[in-house]
Amino acid sequence: MHEASLVTALFDQVDRSIAPHPGAIVHRVFVRVGELAGVEPELLRLAYDTLREGRTCAGAAIELVSEPAEWQCRACALPIPRGEVLRCPRCEGEARLVRGGEVFLDRLELEVPDV
Ligand SMILES: [Zn+2]
Repeated sequence: MHEASLVTALFDQVDRSIAPHPGAIVHRVFVRVGELAGVEPELLRLAYDTLREGRTCAGAAIELVSEPAEWQCRACALPIPRGEVLRCPRCEGEARLVRGGEVFLDRLELEVPDV
């Protein structure tokens, strides 16, 4: 269950993010899902809904934002367009995936009580 461990890590990250705001209520969780992260958005959503009970995110909706893959030359940092050959058109350098390879917490919508 790849998605379940991702969601558990996400909850821990949310807990850490709101630790400086005691009593804060999480309304929405925005998660970026990379095109090449190997994660099925529907399974991620399902895992979230199944596991959120009793967690800080229990009352929060999840919003998935898809992130397209982007490559860059490892040698000269030139952006490399998607295509069959992932080689730098300038220096023939190897392509490196710079975006779209992971799932991560983008931002939170919080309600912080006045103190
Ligand atoms: Zn290059």
